[in-house]
Amino acid sequence: MSREKLHLPVDLHLHSTASDGALTPKQLIARAAGAGLAAVALTDHDTLEGIEEALEAGRSYNLEVIPGVELSSFTGEEEIHLLGYDPLFPERISEVLEELRRERYRRMEKMLLRLRRLGFHITNAEIISEAGAAAPGRLHLARLMVKRGYTPNLETAFSQYLSRGRPAYVPRTKLDPARAISLLHRAEAVPVLAHPGASGRKLIRHLLTLGLRGIEAVHPDHTPEMVRYYRHQAQKLGLLVTGGSDYHGDRVYRAGNIGAITVPYRCLAAIKKAPRGLSFKIQ
Ligand code: AMP
Ligand code: MN
Ligand code: MN
Ligand code: MN
Repeated sequence: MSREKLHLPVDLHLHSTASDGALTPKQLIARAAGAGLAAVALTDHDTLEGIEEALEAGRSYNLEVIPGVELSSFTGEEEIHLLGYDPLFPERISEVLEELRRERYRRMEKMLLRLRRLGFHITNAEIISEAGAAAPGRLHLARLMVKRGYTPNLETAFSQYLSRGRPAYVPRTKLDPARAISLLHRAEAVPVLAHPGASGRKLIRHLLTLGLRGIEAVHPDHTPEMVRYYRHQAQKLGLLVTGGSDYHGDRVYRAGNIGAITVPYRCLAAIKKAPRGLSFKIQ
């Protein structure tokens, strides 16, 4: 690899219609190629369904595409997202991902019931059609509420109804961070703490003992001070640094457009070289 390449921009956090992104994997890769990126990772929520299409699009647009996934996990109080890069054995976690998918349908039914009680009538068929091939999530629901004129924009849909503590919120089944990390290791993916934000500071050392390998220091939710802090922590603890736009195809939320928030290719080169699996066992 040329030394210049190590400086080229990559975006390691993107969503497609395989979860709650607005663009198909193919459209997403076309846009990333147009934005002059040297590589991207597709990191849909709890699924690897979009990967094959993205890899194929990567070949036709001559853009390197890294398979990835973003797992949601929950402690008592907080939702913690874990990115898993480049799983060498994705089939080892397909059953768990399938169960997470089924659980999203059950949870959505409960959310629709709650919305009905609030006077918003959305049917199962409507949300399923909105979600397309993806398992339904809150962002699909928010988009539908805006289309219906129930709420002026996505932000209000969340702040009034869908965010935690709001009346239509239904929590998801608990996948704790230890289990999420061990699942990623089972697939021989590289587990990275996604957008740790303000509350992540106290978590990192604990996650490190569970087999965490990196921190997503560069993210639209992070202030420059947080980026510096997490870069420094990563260096101190021997963790990889990653970053990306968390692009969902619509610019209303986390306004980072594709290509706007990047890290240099050397971060990806380090991910590819990272050791896989665990040398100790976690339940
Ligand atoms: P879920 O995985 O179904 O719980 O939905 C969470 C998703 O909703 C996140 O991945 C974001 O894409 C989206 N989301 C969360 N908070 C907001 C917000 N305030 N505005 C817009 N989208 C949001
Ligand atoms: Mn999302
Ligand atoms: Mn996330
Ligand atoms: Mn994300």
